[in-house]
Amino acid sequence: MPPDTVADMARIAVIGAGMGAMATAARLAVAGHRVTVHERSATYGGGVGRFARDGFTFDTGPGLLHLPAVYRDLFVKTGKESLESHVALTQVDPASRHLFPDGTDVSLPNATRAGVISALDGAFGAGAGERWSEVMGRAREVWETTRRPLLEDALADDTAPLGRDPYPAVRRGLFRRGAPSLASVAERELADPRAAALLTSYALAYGFDPRTVPASATVLPYMEQTFGAWYVRGGMRALADAVYERCLARKVEFHFDNEVVGVRTGPDGRARGLDLADGRRIDADTVVAGAPVPVPGGPGRAAGPVPGRFVVCLALRGPRPEDTVHRTVVHAADLRAEWESVFSGGAPGDSPTVTVLRPDDPSTVPDASHEAVTLQVTVATTAGGEEWTAPGVAADFAERVVKAAEAAVPGLRERESWREVRTPADTERETGAPGGAVPGPALAGAGGLHLHPANVSAVPGLYSVGGWSHPGGGLAHAGMSGAIVADLIAGGPGGSR
Ligand SMILES: Cc1cc2nc3c(=O)[nH]c(=O)nc-3n(C[C@H](O)[C@H](O)[C@H](O)COP(=O)(O)OP(=O)(O)OC[C@H]3O[C@@H](n4cnc5c(N)ncnc54)[C@H](O)[C@@H]3O)c2cc1C
Repeated sequence: MPPDTVADMARIAVIGAGMGAMATAARLAVAGHRVTVHERSATYGGGVGRFARDGFTFDTGPGLLHLPAVYRDLFVKTGKESLESHVALTQVDPASRHLFPDGTDVSLPNATRAGVISALDGAFGAGAGERWSEVMGRAREVWETTRRPLLEDALADDTAPLGRDPYPAVRRGLFRRGAPSLASVAERELADPRAAALLTSYALAYGFDPRTVPASATVLPYMEQTFGAWYVRGGMRALADAVYERCLARKVEFHFDNEVVGVRTGPDGRARGLDLADGRRIDADTVVAGAPVPVPGGPGRAAGPVPGRFVVCLALRGPRPEDTVHRTVVHAADLRAEWESVFSGGAPGDSPTVTVLRPDDPSTVPDASHEAVTLQVTVATTAGGEEWTAPGVAADFAERVVKAAEAAVPGLRERESWREVRTPADTERETGAPGGAVPGPALAGAGGLHLHPANVSAVPGLYSVGGWSHPGGGLAHAGMSGAIVADLIAGGPGGSR
């Protein structure tokens, strides 16, 4: 047995009940370990929250799922029942509608390249679809190069190769341009400001600055346009419910209102348990940190300022019109100003990029004559130097967000019954992430700036999972971290096998 491998039936203490942590816990329990999860708050799921009032329900975290295969694998590996026997998954089609400041309106079909080409030709002019397709063709090379090291496998000891951007350089005349940012690739290779805004909006939605993130971020729209965007009936929280239930079925013990303040180590330097805020000590043979707690070598690093999300839940009178698109992105009038505000500490903009989510799901409304709409915006964790909790700050910005969303929801103002506003301060409360930052998935390039710490820490017996460790944030990536860590603890190389 390798020196850091735990014996059968080890006691494993998991910090936090986020998606990465629960995915790990279920796998470890099936492997025969006694797993206890210590969660600071009163519930599981972390950022995958639900707000419910008056018969309406809203996702307060992610609204769509990518790469559902990650959770299918979790369910297959942890029991006989499939993911689909616990949650209803539907492909969202069109995958998204985009509204641009000049009035251009384009809907992109789900997971069909030919359909996307023809939609973009129609909206932006002949040739636009082919240019987009060429960029996605190059993004495919990024996917093929990074799928294993940046999604499926443990982080390699030598990360130098991942510091180079695998997005193939495009030859221009005699010059070969290397390692451009996403924004410059968008400008040069798409040759249309709307197409460029479309490409950069995917990065912004994951919290990346298009001005600095490498062109490898083209893998984000590539994944969606190749493998699809999925909705979970009942909202994304239903996925968290299902993973929690799977943990319970595999005899994982959950202890809520258990804040962890430290990881205890033995005389040999190995992790031996947890210290809780109420003074209790928990003994364990191995510790898995699923939250950015201050532990030696644990998760918590961030490559520069990581933004959060601003969410407005809107309860509307009147039914959801039949032909409504599930997700509409209303693009900002001034993208550079928006990026400055989100990534360089500027005040929240007047016209932000707003993602409008309008699920066709009767379980989110009290009856068929109402509609539940969620608006999401990527924002800095402080509002231009002010706290999001300062009087009027959130309400004022919500007003601007709703104004922008009117382009996607005709008659919104007249239909609004009430709204619930959620800021990064709420995310901080739910996830423990400082400022309410939401980490993005690991990306190659930029000298490794967008990699996350390895799942194996400097302390033997202490592992980390979830968005703040390899392979980074997002439901699929955090779910994969669970597979990687369970395999590492079993003595494997780390990965889903
Ligand atoms: C508003 C919002 C929007 C998002 N949108 C998207 C999206 O569109 N697409 C996407 O893929 N992803 C999105 N995400 C990110 C996604 O939700 C997460 O990456 C994913 O859920 C994985 O989370 P995690 O495992 O890192 O745990 P987290 O969700 O970060 O949860 C950590 C858990 O640990 C607990 N905890 C923290 N500190 C302690 C402590 N000291 N002791 C005990 N417990 C502790 C917290 O209470 C929490 O339950 C969004 C997140 C938020 C908040």
